[in-house]
Amino acid sequence: MATFDVRFLGCKVSHLDAQDVRERLLADGHVERAGDADVAIVNTCCVTNEALSKSRQAAARAARTHRRVYVTGCGANLEGDNFAGLPSNVVVVRRRSEETPATVAADLGALGCVQDDARLERVRAFVKIQDGCSFSCNFCVIPLVRGGTRSRSADAVLREVRRRVAQGHREIVLTGINLGCFRDRASGYTLARLVREAGETHGLERLRLSSIEINHVDERLVSALRETPTVARHLHVPLQSGDDGVLRAMGRRYSAETYLRRLASLEDFNLTADVIVGFPTEDERAFANTLRVVREARLTKLHVFPYSPRPGTRTADDDPVPAAVKKERGARLRDQSRVACLEHWRSKLGRGDVVLVDRPGRGYGDDYSPWLLRGEVGELIRVRAAAVTEEGIVAA
Ligand code: SF4
Repeated sequence: MATFDVRFLGCKVSHLDAQDVRERLLADGHVERAGDADVAIVNTCCVTNEALSKSRQAAARAARTHRRVYVTGCGANLEGDNFAGLPSNVVVVRRRSEETPATVAADLGALGCVQDDARLERVRAFVKIQDGCSFSCNFCVIPLVRGGTRSRSADAVLREVRRRVAQGHREIVLTGINLGCFRDRASGYTLARLVREAGETHGLERLRLSSIEINHVDERLVSALRETPTVARHLHVPLQSGDDGVLRAMGRRYSAETYLRRLASLEDFNLTADVIVGFPTEDERAFANTLRVVREARLTKLHVFPYSPRPGTRTADDDPVPAAVKKERGARLRDQSRVACLEHWRSKLGRGDVVLVDRPGRGYGDDYSPWLLRGEVGELIRVRAAAVTEEGIVAA
């Protein structure tokens, strides 16, 4: 038996990959222990140079305090020797996400299935429905490090949703790299059908999508989201840029107008997005278009990434926008996002909501707006908005 701890850097998919390793090691009889475990798993991210360098630092730190460190995830699979020069107790696992848990488990050795139903988080569970991406946005390294799109079977997903709900999770987040690519052709499932059926799971309180590309926000999906009572009124729809020239240079396959049109009917949803600043062809005029589209689409929370060329991509050698300009544009966007969040939260003053408490003193309302309130973690509470702070909506 080994003791282990698992950490991750990056997005929800990285979190989920780390959880898959964790679940597999628990099932094999290993024991999770924070702080002084024998083994560390560091699931890495390579979305920017900064993410990669933080991943490397995390692996180096873990190597000082653990007998063995497994470096897994997107950073490990990125071309080049990004983890070279680390101590000899660091093992870089270059495997697809589906193969990583078994690879780490085989290396550690199993004790037998002594705990095959580990409950992973308290309130919400992330359920992967799809992995990889077969689009080829010019800047993106995901298809290179995670492979092309592939879906789990609808049956496996729905069984996992039932299992997580039976374990006591109240919220399920359907997660993947490009969720709209989910297909189970053999059983005739699209994402819309999967949402409807997962949403009907007995005992489930709330269902969300981790994110969805704008080209997949179609009538069928919107109807499924609207007609499934457990679905949260929230969508995370990557924008990346609001300028058509930049979108074309990125290879994103939609225009700013399409983005706005497809979200127009979702006025009662809380819409959030990812945006890249400082892409090679982004000048001040193009950036102003991004600020405008963010406003017109009524986006609230933005995840802003400074452009960072990734090896192996079409724009790998192109990075003309100075770091200071990226920083300044990022700050302007974040500020606009902060104001939009506050406005959105203020629009709720005096109104009611149902909040799922996910941490002491905090929770999320029906459209995934943050609330500050008292309540037991895991409780669903009917509340009324009394005030707004920079942190969220204060319950009366
Ligand atoms: S940015 Fe483009 S290539 Fe990368 S994961 Fe998203 S859709 Fe796929």
